[in-house]
Amino acid sequence: MAATSYDVLIIGSGPGGYVAAIRAAQLGLKVGVVERQYMGGICPNWGCIPAKALLRSAEIFHYIEHAKDYGLVAEKFGVDIAGVVKRSRGIASQMSNGVGFLLKKNKVEVIWGQATLTAPGKVSVAATDGAPKGALGAGEYTAKNIIVATGARPRALPGIEPDSKLIWTYFDALAPASVPKSLLIMGSGAIGVEFASFYKAMGSDVTIVELLPQILPVEDEEIAEHAKKRFEKQGIKILTGAKVSKVVKGADSVTATVETADGKVQTLTADRLISAVGVVGNIENLGLEKLGVKTDRGCVVIDGLCRTNVPGIYAIGDVAGPPMLAHKAEHEGVICVEGIAGKHAHPMDKLMIPGCTYCMPQVASVGLTEKKAKEAGYEVKVGRFPFIGNGKAVALGEADGLVKTIFDAKTGQLLGAHLVGAEVTEMIQGFVLAMNLETTEEELINAVFPHPTVSETMHESVLAAYGRAIHI
Ligand SMILES: Cc1cc2nc3c(=O)[nH]c(=O)nc-3n(C[C@H](O)[C@H](O)[C@H](O)COP(=O)(O)OP(=O)(O)OC[C@H]3O[C@@H](n4cnc5c(N)ncnc54)[C@H](O)[C@@H]3O)c2cc1C
Repeated sequence: MAATSYDVLIIGSGPGGYVAAIRAAQLGLKVGVVERQYMGGICPNWGCIPAKALLRSAEIFHYIEHAKDYGLVAEKFGVDIAGVVKRSRGIASQMSNGVGFLLKKNKVEVIWGQATLTAPGKVSVAATDGAPKGALGAGEYTAKNIIVATGARPRALPGIEPDSKLIWTYFDALAPASVPKSLLIMGSGAIGVEFASFYKAMGSDVTIVELLPQILPVEDEEIAEHAKKRFEKQGIKILTGAKVSKVVKGADSVTATVETADGKVQTLTADRLISAVGVVGNIENLGLEKLGVKTDRGCVVIDGLCRTNVPGIYAIGDVAGPPMLAHKAEHEGVICVEGIAGKHAHPMDKLMIPGCTYCMPQVASVGLTEKKAKEAGYEVKVGRFPFIGNGKAVALGEADGLVKTIFDAKTGQLLGAHLVGAEVTEMIQGFVLAMNLETTEEELINAVFPHPTVSETMHESVLAAYGRAIHI
């Protein structure tokens, strides 16, 4: 009979929860994870991974469409959306099963069901469907430390509530039965623009409506503008400073009333609407209020070591607030359990968390935008380098991109890096390391970048900030 008492009991098996569980087990703690629905959470099941699988199909389709540009002949090709979705769902199950395997390997006990905190150190689990083989079930469990890692769900705007038929959330958009001829996307954050790229490549007529003055609102203005121009060149229509104020559903279409900042009102009709206006933390029905755990605007309030205001209760990942990213959740999982185990855990520095968006072209960034750096009082030196000056990017047929670096003019400290173009999500980590190591311009200038690689654009952008770029 398995124990029902743990050193650490984690509610939610997403990137935050499962990574915390594995690290805690490595530290010799007795660990349990309660999961009600998706082994591995949103990321492998209905988030990062299936979205990237769909985008990969879109990317390959795009290359086949442009085969002629590479001197190739591709005559008969098309989209089999059922096949595209099948591949994505298959990868999602593979990743989800992988998380189950890792938990088992690390001797973490999985408890299947809906968890509620009933008292300090006590969690009650009610049965839910779909328990994997070997999982524990409904019952009362105790733990010295409880980590809330319950993630988030799509935000719904009043009057524009998703119905899975005409108004979609990411769940629906990740597994369409067919490709809508026309599609309206509300919100231009990472999720909105990734779906815009996917559906555009699949043949939809896509319009994005964004409330704020720029798309990709958290990104550097110049990079967002570059991406916008590329999207528009591909035929994606974009309305910024525009609000969807009303949606009327037809038999097989939606008509949205859109108000723009200049006071103009227009109606747009499309087959489907994707609501991509952000996510809200899963803080309800957990017993948090009863135990006095502080929450703010839909998220649990934590300190740098993921501690809530109630001793013995912690929160990590999406439920603990932005940025709502899998790698932030994972990192918080490690910080949290290392703190519990009495290790010298380092508090999270949110400025060092990179953001990656896998639209076409990709966008990646870390640190301060130029605007934020100036607002923070820095005198800045800014370097820019376009992909057109990079031999590898041109050879790849991916000459449209930009790397922008921002330095403190006084000290040479790298404050931020912002990239748009092919594979920049793989390149950003170079700048993440540089920022973590508090690198200066001199050290980056002295580093040797391999040739020919697209990463040379990173070096050139640093050189450009100091008037030394070679290839422009
Ligand atoms: C379409 C899409 C694409 C994305 N792409 C990226 C990307 O490219 N990169 C990136 O970094 N992030 C991406 N994200 C965000 C990423 O998925 C989340 O940041 C990440 O999953 C958060 O991890 P988490 O552990 O906090 O929570 P989750 O992954 O949401 O997991 C929480 C788990 O807790 C369980 N749970 C909740 N309440 C209870 C309860 N009471 N009892 C038991 N179990 C419970 C849920 O069932 C769920 O499995 C994407 C998200 C979406 C929707």
